[in-house]
Amino acid sequence: ADDNNNNNSNNGAPPPATVRQSPVINLDRGDPSVFEPYWKKNGGKCTITISGHESLSYFSDPHSVCWYMEPELQEAIRRVHRIVGNARTEGYHVVVGTGSTVLFQAALYALSSSSAAVAQPMKVVCAAPYYSQYKEQVELLQSRLYEWGGDAKTYDDEDKTAPFIEVVTSPNNPDGSLREAMVANKTENGGKLIHDLAYYWPNYTPITRPADNDIMLFTLTKCTGHAGSRIGWALVKDVAVAQKMTSFMQITTIGVSKDSQLQAAKILQVVADDCESKAGAFGYGGDDADRTFFGECRKVMAGRWEKLREVVKGKDVFGLPKYPKRYCNFSGRYFQPAPAFGWLECKEGCDASALMKANNVLTRGGETFGASNRYTRITMIGREEEFDCFLERISGIHCVDEDKD
Ligand code: PMP
Repeated sequence: ADDNNNNNSNNGAPPPATVRQSPVINLDRGDPSVFEPYWKKNGGKCTITISGHESLSYFSDPHSVCWYMEPELQEAIRRVHRIVGNARTEGYHVVVGTGSTVLFQAALYALSSSSAAVAQPMKVVCAAPYYSQYKEQVELLQSRLYEWGGDAKTYDDEDKTAPFIEVVTSPNNPDGSLREAMVANKTENGGKLIHDLAYYWPNYTPITRPADNDIMLFTLTKCTGHAGSRIGWALVKDVAVAQKMTSFMQITTIGVSKDSQLQAAKILQVVADDCESKAGAFGYGGDDADRTFFGECRKVMAGRWEKLREVVKGKDVFGLPKYPKRYCNFSGRYFQPAPAFGWLECKEGCDASALMKANNVLTRGGETFGASNRYTRITMIGREEEFDCFLERISGIHCVDEDKD
């Protein structure tokens, strides 16, 4: 397996013996293990008991558009958003999914099937670098309703009226940037929007305002780190869209595991209780917010970013995006975003992920995100030991210029 690692970035020279012997570090995945220490300490509060008679029915709440949604999950979702202030929930319908992944597909279906006569598949665009799964999901079933339209920055709506869908990921995966719609906000065109706000939580980024977009996707995966519970939710303004998304869920999976919903509700209640118990009489002062789940996790993320920047600063090989400090309404202080991924840039002519791979570090290369291979994405939310090991490894990386050899 080593032979494909040695060439690109070390210019044919075999890697040093230390690299050949060193274990492979996998920073390709977005598994949120960073929160494990917190939950090992506090997870006992989330224990629930589900009795054998509780998951018998498909149905949960006949009063809700999303009829398979457990009422306590809906209540916990609305409560956490109210406390954190990252999204408006009044006037919105909640639709629950098996992770937000399936809700992305439900939203595509809802938006594309409601256009009266679909002469052509609707284009789905997203500004590069974009989350690689969007393209894969859009293309998977070769739908006649929608098709991948690529980078929103270069999207050219030929007749200026054809309906299309723009996905806005903010903060963005992979580069952590805060984003607004690029094309679909111009009222003269037929653009519809899906906002993926998976990372709009104070453990990663300052909460500057409650988001109030038409379709907003969130997930427990990135909020609390419970990727394995597979619970995501959409906040949807238009009831007809919420109904269509629910139909998609009904036809594809007839709902979402009640056990998972109940566990997720409990986790969110524990997070909300924790926040409320630490908020002072006048809301959060910085110190109160720092002691909440979000505050503690932010400290860990910020610590990792500080260490990474320190290592990168000492090398002329790499660059990292800079994020301005912003005021966080939840935390009551200014801080710099500490995104879930590092978007590492190498100098011109260098293949960043190949360079990493030559040093036994697996990352996800820029092309996967519709960007140049000078960039690669590294996870910042993996395990501590792995992250520290990575820092040590990159301190020793050299990128040899081809023309200097
Ligand atoms: N959106 C974005 C931007 C993501 O990064 C992820 C997870 N990597 C998801 C959606 C999907 O999350 P899940 O299906 O686990 O809820």
